[in-house]
Amino acid sequence: STARKPLIAGNWKMNLNHLEAIAHVQKLAFSLTDKDFDRVEVSVLPPFTDLRSVQTLVDGDKLRIVYGAQDLSVHDSGAYTGEISGSMLAKLGCTFVLAGHSERREYHGEDDHVVNAKVQAAYRHSLTPILCVGEGLAIRQADGHVAYCLSQLDIALNGVKADQAKSLVIAYEPVWAIGTGEVATPDDAQEVCTAIRARLAELYDGEVAAAIRILYGGSVKSANIAGIMAQPDVDGALVGGASLDPVEFAKICRFGE
Ligand code: PEP
Repeated sequence: STARKPLIAGNWKMNLNHLEAIAHVQKLAFSLTDKDFDRVEVSVLPPFTDLRSVQTLVDGDKLRIVYGAQDLSVHDSGAYTGEISGSMLAKLGCTFVLAGHSERREYHGEDDHVVNAKVQAAYRHSLTPILCVGEGLAIRQADGHVAYCLSQLDIALNGVKADQAKSLVIAYEPVWAIGTGEVATPDDAQEVCTAIRARLAELYDGEVAAAIRILYGGSVKSANIAGIMAQPDVDGALVGGASLDPVEFAKICRFGE
């Protein structure tokens, strides 16, 4: 992972209101040094209702934290009650947007084709998708995890051009490791991340594949991040539960130190 700057992204899920968000981001910023920010890109992914407050804080205090959203609509505007568009997120200064998080797939029926439409919607508004893939426990036990993740990847990237794909972030998040305390071994993470990179080289070319950051997600904590980051094809982490404590999250951003 030589040329790729590592990315640690905190997925807050449905936690922290906009006032709590401000306190959290301030604490996080104070817990990290310029040297830390030189070494790793630090991102938070708050609920939609927090984004305006986070934008005001990050801009006002010139924080080196980037932020994004947890979801977006496949549509750009119109009669889609309750939805949030990519252009709204871009206007709020979002860098990233998750696409295909397992909780969206599981609780909101998002299939690979919807995820593909969300990836395309993100690119239409110059947002960087963090495309999440990952197998459930039964698939892992049947040794189908690599093929399953590559199939998710193929469909999600349908129609995405090489110049767009260059900026893409992929998160390998085995569903059995999300929120369970059961982290994949560093070797398990590397196995799938290296297979994803090989597939990206087939879909695009080696240069594009080498530019794309591939994260691991699933019960990452400061106590297990170092082993994960030591893997050559793992370029960072998508962190759920442990991102809700700014001091712990900062420690993860320092790879456990
Ligand atoms: C996630 O929500 O993407 C995630 C990895 O959650 P956790 O770290 O809590 O397992």
